[in-house]
Amino acid sequence: MAGVFDIVTTDGFEQVAYFHDQASGLRAIVAIHSTALGPALGGTRFYPYASEDDALVDVCRLARSMTYKPAACGNDLGGGKAVIIGDPTAVRSEALLRAYGRFVEGMSGRYITAEDMGTTQADMDLIRRETPHVTGVSESLGGSGDPSPATAWGVLWAMKAVAERLWGTPSLAGRHVCVAGVGKVGRALAAHLAEEGAKLTVSDVRQEAAELCVDEYGAAAVAPETAHTVPCDIFSPCALGAVLNPTTIPELRCDAVVGSANNQLASPADAERLRHPGIVYAPDFVANAGGGINIAEEPPGYDHARAYQRITSIHDTLLDVFERADADGITTAAAADRLAEERIAAVSRTRLIRTTR
Ligand code: NAD
Repeated sequence: MAGVFDIVTTDGFEQVAYFHDQASGLRAIVAIHSTALGPALGGTRFYPYASEDDALVDVCRLARSMTYKPAACGNDLGGGKAVIIGDPTAVRSEALLRAYGRFVEGMSGRYITAEDMGTTQADMDLIRRETPHVTGVSESLGGSGDPSPATAWGVLWAMKAVAERLWGTPSLAGRHVCVAGVGKVGRALAAHLAEEGAKLTVSDVRQEAAELCVDEYGAAAVAPETAHTVPCDIFSPCALGAVLNPTTIPELRCDAVVGSANNQLASPADAERLRHPGIVYAPDFVANAGGGINIAEEPPGYDHARAYQRITSIHDTLLDVFERADADGITTAAAADRLAEERIAAVSRTRLIRTTR
């Protein structure tokens, strides 16, 4: 295992901070990858990591990808992430979350937290009692609430961009979409797709979640292990990462992959593996940016209609990514990275102009 400074230096992190509160049992790590565009926004993952090294590797990997998401989608936010080490069902408590909130407050706004795997809106409400640097709190506290419906709305608009590229129309009527994972995002996405007149197949390790979509949206259900092999127009990974890998890619029977899951490619080489059979890949951090765009609309006052209108811009961002990929002869994943990196460099340059701030 490399030391913390090796990791920080290799991937250009600004800060990795460890927090501990003995009384509540809090053990947390916050990683700030970049604040070039603005304060680092990223959720807090609450997970029983097998070791501190696993937690460090995960928080750094997640924080780095958070830099690219707002950069590609036009938000003035940087990339960061946090992990709380422990089983949330066993150690979650008001004291632990408020202690965590006080540490976030101590970072003076360089890091803004949000919900992630293992944390809930109720947790964000508790953290809010200690710091304003938290998003996704309840609407009654002036927040935008759970970001998942906004993420699903963004994935829908990403699918429309892909439809336009492949079939010359943004309509998804009659298109067959297989949604793998119908939790918070996947289920909301299934509802939109049913409304659009798409044909639906779903899968979930929780059988009741898949059955709900069968009953409510007329979906067909398949076993989670076979979802990626379903012959369809669009495969939509909305559960775990690394679902696109050397084993699964040759088994895909779709024209496009558009989903909400983070880090869908097991490695950068998998983008090339998708390109050769001509499968259109909507880079995950562009397709799933809706929740982040929604959160960025919170200050100074959240307006649902304005936020959802902004999320539809994912459609144009993706068409731009596709055009760049064609023009430069690169994968859509590489084109999205370039788009984000160019914006970070361009905006950073403007910050060299002296103002009163
Ligand atoms: P969730 O936990 O509500 O839903 C995930 C669903 O996937 C659950 O129903 C779970 O049972 C199911 N699942 C787990 N393993 C599976 C498998 N192997 N095959 C099929 N189903 C499986 O999570 P979510 O908030 O809906 O997020 C889904 C994905 O989107 C995650 O990767 C998350 O990181 C990503 N994401 C979510 C948001 C958001 O706003 N919630 C934003 C950006 C990215």
